[in-house]
Amino acid sequence: MRDEAIVSVRDLRFATLLCRHCNTRVTLDLDAEFEAPRTPFRALRECPRCANPYDSAVPLAIETIQKGYKALAGLGDAVTFTAPSPRDTP
Ligand SMILES: [Zn+2]
Repeated sequence: MRDEAIVSVRDLRFATLLCRHCNTRVTLDLDAEFEAPRTPFRALRECPRCANPYDSAVPLAIETIQKGYKALAGLGDAVTFTAPSPRDTP
């Protein structure tokens, strides 16, 4: 019997950015609009605590995953993700 976790994209709603300089974690709600006043786009570019920049790939990666999240979330449970059991991974 295989042990696997099946999750809906809705379960992946929150993405967390980790600052490698001060270890601050910033959680982004993928349902939110990052351009909105509550979550300024700046939040994707630099750490709000120490102002060091995130990796330059972060803003595009987050924007891309947000678009995918919103597209798939609109389909309900039509698309799910499966995490393999830790026993099945090398
Ligand atoms: Zn920081």
